[in-house]
Amino acid sequence: MVKITFKGASQEVGRSAFLVDDGDKILLDYGVKLTPHGLEYPLPIDTNLNAAIISHAHLDHTGNLPHLFRETDCLVYMTPPTLGIAKILWFDTLKIAGLEGMDANFTRDEIGNTEKFTFPIRYGKHMDITDRTSMVFHDAGHIVGSALTELRMRDKTLVYTGDFRYAETRLHNPAQFEKIKECDYLITESTYGDRDHPDRKETEKKFVESVQETIDRGGHALLPSFAVGRSQEIIDVLNEYHIEAPIYYDGMGQRVARIYLENPSYLKNPKFLAKALQKVNWVKNVKMRKHALKEPSIIVCTSGMMQGGSVYAYLPEIYNDASSKIMLTGYQVDETPGRILLETGKLNLEGLNVTVKAGVERYDFSAHAGKDELFRAIKKLNPEKVICVHGDKEVTRKFAKSIKQDAGIEAIVPELGKEIEL
Ligand SMILES: [Zn+2]
Ligand SMILES: [Zn+2]
Repeated sequence: MVKITFKGASQEVGRSAFLVDDGDKILLDYGVKLTPHGLEYPLPIDTNLNAAIISHAHLDHTGNLPHLFRETDCLVYMTPPTLGIAKILWFDTLKIAGLEGMDANFTRDEIGNTEKFTFPIRYGKHMDITDRTSMVFHDAGHIVGSALTELRMRDKTLVYTGDFRYAETRLHNPAQFEKIKECDYLITESTYGDRDHPDRKETEKKFVESVQETIDRGGHALLPSFAVGRSQEIIDVLNEYHIEAPIYYDGMGQRVARIYLENPSYLKNPKFLAKALQKVNWVKNVKMRKHALKEPSIIVCTSGMMQGGSVYAYLPEIYNDASSKIMLTGYQVDETPGRILLETGKLNLEGLNVTVKAGVERYDFSAHAGKDELFRAIKKLNPEKVICVHGDKEVTRKFAKSIKQDAGIEAIVPELGKEIEL
């Protein structure tokens, strides 16, 4: 019998953490939830673990992992780029917590412990994690190093998708579900379980046309983008369409981009990305920021939902300029500054609530599977049971219902803190 306890990401997006127990105890992901009011943590792990497996670097999957190493000394499996990026994000969490006088829930030493107990493994490499449990990672097509986990337990095989894309994007191949031969139980993300994404090529064209139009009228295209994955993809897109304007790259995305460049085998077309990144101006100091604002320019900066980051170095000059545009390139969570800007046209700048004269637009460059992709993945694996996690409450319920109706497979919507027996 396999038991799974849901320590987070159950009828919510954020703090992914699932404890699988068939005698061997294995933790899948250990993330945090970023809310406009601060961080939320997964429920505590009150048992000795045989291993932990991390699907990819995003903080909602890794953000609380160093905390686990306050008391644990089990091995953690993740791909090499996942470790590289997670380290950047953990140290950034410490820095932000320090600036705000908050507790990060872990220390520098615990990051060191986490690294010491991490065993990096590549896609396709079979690994015995105990005498009777083995695992293998496959490309999930979500961000660099993101992995589908195939967990072969005593009698059953469990597949955990983490976050994935089953359609091709500019940086990544589709998730490699084809490589999975057996799946009894599937734990799948449900983020877009109720809708499909617009066509990617169409989105790219509209986006690039809007950027070009902004440049042609002498403005700045300010592109707040997620540091991990999205900012690199946006630079790749801009290069593909040969936009005639200087591109400036500012913020934490730069450090993450280095990890992308160091791991070419995890990308679809690493040479193209390397060339695109070579052509951009890597903003190193205030002088360069000023320079970026002196000419019509494209500025790729952080953060994706405008909850801080380098975008605030440019906004005072740009918000009042009707020839410029703020172009959001990712999903905007409720109550974030990006969402408020989209809905009200207003921004909080240095304590003042200002009306934005620059254009405001949003584009769907999602790295998550849309409904059609989720269904293709489920039908490909054809499991006995599907467990739907990592989605908003209503979305997850709708998704599970349609799995039962359209695929004829039992679908479970777990509750936070509950244990299920399979
Ligand atoms: Zn993710
Ligand atoms: Zn996620």
